[in-house]
Formats: sequence, C-alpha cells, structure tokens
Amino acid sequence: MGVLNNIWNGFLGLVYPEVEGCLYCEVDELVTDEVQLCEDCLSRINYITDNYCEKCGRLIIDEEECKNCEEYNYQFNKARAVATYNQALSDYIYDMKYQGRQALAKPLGQILGIYGLEFYKREDLDVIIPVPLAKEKLKTRGFNQAYLLAREVSKKLDLPINDQVLKRAVNTVSQSKLSPLKRKENVSNIFYCEPEYVKEIKGKYVLLIDDIYTTGATVNECSKVLLRAGARDVSVLTLATGEQGQ
Ligand SMILES: [Zn+2]
Ligand SMILES: [Zn+2]
Repeated sequence: MGVLNNIWNGFLGLVYPEVEGCLYCEVDELVTDEVQLCEDCLSRINYITDNYCEKCGRLIIDEEECKNCEEYNYQFNKARAVATYNQALSDYIYDMKYQGRQALAKPLGQILGIYGLEFYKREDLDVIIPVPLAKEKLKTRGFNQAYLLAREVSKKLDLPINDQVLKRAVNTVSQSKLSPLKRKENVSNIFYCEPEYVKEIKGKYVLLIDDIYTTGATVNECSKVLLRAGARDVSVLTLATGEQGQ
C-alpha cells in the first residue's frame, strides 16, 4: 500500500477537491475572492509591509544594517517574503506539509501571488521556478509544497513555471535542525541544472519560490546554480522569513 498511498497522496496534492470557505478553519465567510482564508485566519499572519531589508527581505528591527546581508554574499537580485514566521504562519505551513492539508497551498499561494505583484513587476520576469525537493523526499511526501505555491503565483502573475530545470541531487538534513553555518554547508553543491532544459532559462529573469526563507542559504545556492547555467537574473519570493539577526 505504501507506494500506492504515496501516489494517491501526490495526486491529491496536485488536484485537491474544491471546497468553499476558509481552507484552514473551515468557516464559510471569506473577505475576498482572491484568498481562500477567512478574516480571522488572514489577520493572524504578521505581514511585512515596511522595515525590511531591501536585499534579503528580512524584517529589520533596531538595526541600521542587515547583519545577514553583511555575512552572506547573496547571488540573487533580491528576496521578498510575505510575513515573519510567527505561530500562525508556521501552523499553516506545517499543516500543508505534514498534516495532509495540501489544499492550504491554494490560499497561501494566493497571498504569495498578491505579494509577488506588489514587490515585482510582472514584465520584469520570465519564468517561475520552485525550489526542488530531492527525488526521495518527493516520493515520501508526495508533493513539493514550493511547486504547489508556485502554481498559484503562476496563475496570479500569468507566468510559466519550470520545474524541470532545477534539481536537488541529494536529500539533506532538514535545514531547520542546523546552525546558520551548517546550513550553508548542508546545501552547498546539492542543486544542479538538467542539461537538456538549460536552454529554457538562458537569458531569463527567474522568480524563485519557496515556503520558508531562514538564512537564505537554500535560495542562494539555487540562484548560484541558475546563474551559472545562464539565467539572466534571479529574484526570490517566499511565504515566511525570519527577523534580522535570527
Ligand atoms: Zn479561517
Ligand atoms: Zn538583508
């Protein structure tokens, strides 16, 4: 049943049933057609609207310079996130990834799309690329949450997704369990571009999508690989980010 179960879950992850109302708490009333979450669930998200680092998108509090940008030589053009990683957003993301509630990728991706339009000009971008999962992990989880989010962003921005070109070679230890330095080592050299698809990103402006931005190590590695393969520029959009200095 194992394999079949995973395929079935994968299928559900990609084609979830149409449900009306809030996809998190399941109350009926929505405040907008654009996001399928109720007012209460939307209001628990700690949106980033100002005081963020122009380069990495982290919230900056009581600091002049962003310490993370001082430490890292980020290869992406800039990164932006919808919100800080507070309890509510971490609950939504956790349920989407680990509690079989892939349908939550719809409202979360819708919010990501709205932010995408806020932060970036659609005409400055060519293609959306989700941060990939390793094959093994994709098999066990059945879906890539970054892909599900990217799909909603793609609808909102009317841009194509390319989930063929960027690949993750090995399954690494989860970044959340590691110190900042270890995170950098952990993802170094694990991403690569599929030679046969490289032509699809040559000279292109890429929007890279992931669920959580912590130190930026993962998206930075992806950016390096894409730029090396000939992408013109990489910008990043994630749901959650940390506060500066975390
Ligand atoms: Zn709700
Ligand atoms: Zn920064």
